[in-house]
Parts: sequence; structure tokens; C-alpha cells
Amino acid sequence: MTALVVQDLRKSFGGVEAAKGITFTVAESELLALIGPNGAGKSTCFNMLNGQLKPDSGSIKLFGQEIVGKRPREVWRMGVGRTFQITATFGSMTVIENVQMALLSHHRRLRAMIPFAGDLYRDEAWELLELVGMADQAGRACGTLAYGDLKRLELAIALANQPRVLLMDEPTAGMAPRERVQLMQLTADIVRARGVSVLFTEHDMDVVFTHADRVMVLNRGELIAQGSPQEVRNNSDVQSIYLGS
Ligand code: ADP
Ligand code: MG
Repeated sequence: MTALVVQDLRKSFGGVEAAKGITFTVAESELLALIGPNGAGKSTCFNMLNGQLKPDSGSIKLFGQEIVGKRPREVWRMGVGRTFQITATFGSMTVIENVQMALLSHHRRLRAMIPFAGDLYRDEAWELLELVGMADQAGRACGTLAYGDLKRLELAIALANQPRVLLMDEPTAGMAPRERVQLMQLTADIVRARGVSVLFTEHDMDVVFTHADRVMVLNRGELIAQGSPQEVRNNSDVQSIYLGS
């Protein structure tokens, strides 16, 4: 089944048309890259997909259910997840407590606040940490983690909500090349193991062409190409407009 059906999305900011009728689908259990130069409209697109930004027109259906017009929290409940930077607020909590918090929130038990939550969802949290390779750091304070580890924790926290589609805006930004490969390999494994669909933006073309199942290219608010990494790499419009050759 198709996870996401996006039809003719349009969004203008004053005179700037950030989305000029974007149409695409995301398959179930697919790792799909959205690329394009700065200002192409990638973040605008993501913001519409998770309900943060209301499109001027168009439709976004998650497993047949319309998202447009719903509040971000509702869209999140429906299963559109997004990775986000962990805020300093939780920096003094441990790694596993942060994941427990996310699970408490998912199960609507946020009133059972850490540190009073104790062992609530601890096993589930532990499983998620194992999934992202962070179990050995479960007891560490988040504020002391290396950047790459924070990114993996961020992924575990996003997965705590059991998203059906996960949006990752530049997940590997600021990471060393080796860490980038690791994070994307991990993401690809999770996509396959859990049947989650991931839509991600990325500047590093090596990452895109190595890991994505499919690639879409956005330029000035329009999708100018989509296909397999191979097809997109060989597309002459992409080469001239995006890769600058
Ligand atoms: P990308 O993520 O691909 O770099 P964005 O979606 O951030 O692109 O931006 C697309 C276009 O929309 C740019 O011209 C940007 O300046 C404009 N834009 C994005 N958000 C806003 C906003 N909140 N207000 C005004 N213009 C915006
Ligand atoms: Mg952006």
C-alpha cells in the first residue's frame, strides 16, 4: 500500500512560490530522498507534510486519510514523525530517560513525569536504544553525548511514537563522513525492519546515491525529476540545474 499520496501542493510566502504544485507518493517501507538547492522548498514541503504549515491548496493523504487542515499534534498522532534536535531541557536526563519520556508521551502518560516514572516503559526504551546502537550509553546524561550519538538518540525518540512515515530534514548535517554512513545505514535497516517509510533531505550526494531507494529533485518549488538514484544521477536537467554541470 502507498503510505503517502501528495497531490498538487501549493504554498506562497508573499510573492515567493515555495511550492508550485508538488505531486508525489511515498511507498510503504521506502527510503526516499528529497534533494534540491538551497531555497528549493524542501523544508516548506516537510512543514506541510507534518501539519506545521497549511498549504494554500492541495492534498496530503496518509494511508488514505487527509492530513491537510489537521493540527501538527494530530498529524503526529496519525503517524507522521519527524526527527528534531534534542533541546537542552532534557540534557540533564539520561539517554534512557529521554526515550522513556517519548514513550510516555506516545502512550499519553506524560503526567507520569520522569523522575517519578521509574521503570515505566523501560524495557521498550531499552529495545529502541538497542535498535539504534545506544544501549551501552543508556545511563549517560544526554548533555554529555557526542553529536553523532545525539542524532541516533533523536532517531530512537522519533521511533518511540511508532511513526508510519518519518521525515528527516538533513539528518546527517554536521556529522563526520563515517558517522553519516553509519546513521544512514542504520536508518535503512530500520526502514526495512519496521516497515517505516522515511523521507529525508540531504546535501551530501554520496549519502543520497548510496542509501536512497528513490530520489526526488526539487527546484524553485517544482519537482523536476524523480526515479532511482541511477536515473536521477543521469538526468540532464538535474545535472545542469542541481549539480551545476
Ligand atoms: P529549502 O529547505 O529547500 O532550502 P525552504 O523551503 O526553506 O527551502 O524555502 C523555500 C523558499 O520559500 C525560499 O525562497 C524561502 O526564502 C521561502 N520561505 C520559506 N519559509 C518562509 C517563510 N516562513 N516566510 C517567507 N518566505 C519563506
Ligand atoms: Mg531547508
